[in-house]
Amino acid sequence: MELKNRRITVMGLGSFGGGLGAVQFLVEQGARVTVTDLRRADQLVDSIQELATTPPDAYHLGGHQAADFTDTDLLVVNPAVPRDCPFLNLAIQADVPLSSEMNLFWEFNRGRTLAVTGSNGKSTTTAMTHAILQATGKRCWLGGNIGRSLLPRVTEIEPEDWVVLELSSFQLEDLDRLRRSPEVSIITNFSANHLDRHLTLDNYRSAKQTILRWQSPDNFAVLNQDDADVCHWPTTGKRLYFGLSDLGNEGLFAVGTDTALFRFRGQVRHFPIQRWLTLPGVHNLQNALGAACAALAIQTPPEAVQNGLQGYQALPHRLELVADANGRQFYNDSLATTPESTIVALAAFDRPIILFAGGYDKGSDLVGMARAIADKPVKAVALMGKTGPRIQELLNQFAPRGVIGRHLCSNFDEAFEWAIRHSETGDVLLLSPGCASYDWFRNFADRGAQFRERAQKYTSQF
Ligand code: ADP
Repeated sequence: MELKNRRITVMGLGSFGGGLGAVQFLVEQGARVTVTDLRRADQLVDSIQELATTPPDAYHLGGHQAADFTDTDLLVVNPAVPRDCPFLNLAIQADVPLSSEMNLFWEFNRGRTLAVTGSNGKSTTTAMTHAILQATGKRCWLGGNIGRSLLPRVTEIEPEDWVVLELSSFQLEDLDRLRRSPEVSIITNFSANHLDRHLTLDNYRSAKQTILRWQSPDNFAVLNQDDADVCHWPTTGKRLYFGLSDLGNEGLFAVGTDTALFRFRGQVRHFPIQRWLTLPGVHNLQNALGAACAALAIQTPPEAVQNGLQGYQALPHRLELVADANGRQFYNDSLATTPESTIVALAAFDRPIILFAGGYDKGSDLVGMARAIADKPVKAVALMGKTGPRIQELLNQFAPRGVIGRHLCSNFDEAFEWAIRHSETGDVLLLSPGCASYDWFRNFADRGAQFRERAQKYTSQF
C-alpha cells in the first residue's frame, strides 16, 4: 500500500496511543494526514504534544467535518468509534476505504504473529507469552491492546521476529476486513462482555473468532479446553488445548498440583508449570498454561518457558498487592471489569475478604458474581456505582444479611472508610468490582490508583 501523498483522515486521536501511533506512522510515510476528533484541542493536549515532531497537515477538533469523510483517500478509524456513527457512514457511502491503527500494522508488519484474545486474561496471557519468548534471547515485540502502538516501529520488525499481540474484539472485528489471522492464536475464555457495543453475544463471538477464521492448516489455534464455549469454536489451523485436566487432547494440561503434561506430535513431556508460576489464583495458572502451550508449540525451549514464568510479575491492577499493614492486605484488581474476573479473584483467596464491587453498567449479568460472593469467605461488600443496587438486590436473595455485611456507598471515600471500619487482622481488602469504572472514575487505572493511594495512606499510620 503506497502512503506517500495519500490523503488520509484519522478519526479519533484519543489518549490511549492507537490514534497517536497511526498519525506518527502515516506522517513519517509521507501521507497528507488530517486528524479529527470530537474532543477539543484543550482536551487532547498530551496527544498533540506527542505529535510535535510528526505533525499532521491539519487538525479538525471539537467535532467532525463531512468533507474529511467523503473527500479523502483513506479513513483510519479508532476502534472506540461506534459502528453506527453517521460520519463513518458518510465515508462508506462515498466508497472511501476504511482502516485502523491495528490493520495498518497488520499490512506493514513482516514479522511472525502470535496473538491473544478472550473475555478475560488477555493482557496477562499476552505479557506472559512475551516474557517467555523474550527469555529465548531472540528479538520479539509486544503490542496491540497492551502497551504503546507498534505501528511507528513496524519497519524495524524483521521476518524472523515474533510479534506478540493482545487483540480486543473491536480490533478483531476490523481485522476481518483484511482476511488475516495470526500464525498462533490463543483464546483465554469467552463470556458476555461489551454487549453495549456488539449488541448480541453472537456478534461478539464472531468478532473474536476472526483470530481463528483465516488461519492456515500449519498455524496453531490454542483453545481453553475448560471453557464450554471456546472448546467448540471452529478452527482452520491446528487445534491445541490447554486446561486443568488431561482429557487426551493435544496441548498442555495441569495434572496433579505441580506438573503439567504437554502432548504434541505423538510425544508426551512433563513440565512443572505450577512451580514456575509465582502469581496467585487458578486463573493465572490457566493463563500460564495457554502462554506456555503456544510457546512450546513453536519450539520454544523449556528453559525459556521456565525463566519467562519465574520472572513474571503481576501487571498493575490485576490482583496486585498494593499495601500490607496492620494485618490487612490490600489487593488492587481494578481491571476486573467483568463479573467473571471478580469470581476468579474471589477464588484466589482462602482468607476473609472485604470486597469493593459494582460500577458502571455494561449490561453484564451479575447473578453469578453475586452467588460467588455468597459462597466465598466474603465478610462484607462495599457496593459502588450504578450497579451497586442491583448487586445488593441479588445479595439479599443469595446471602443472609447477618453473614455478609453490605453497604450502598455514594462515593469512593465512603466505600473505603466503610470497608476499613469492617476489617480486622487477617482480612484481604479486595478491589475487584466486576464492572467498568466510568461512572465514578476516569477509567480503571484511575480507580486502581485511587484505591492504592487510600490503602497506602491507611497503612502509613502503622
Ligand atoms: P484482559 O486483558 O482480558 O482484561 P487481564 O489479564 O488484564 O485481562 O486481567 C483482567 C482481570 O481479569 C483481572 O482482574 C484478573 O484478575 C482477571 N483474569 C485474569 N485472567 C483471567 C482468566 N483466565 N479468567 C478469568 N479472569 C481472569
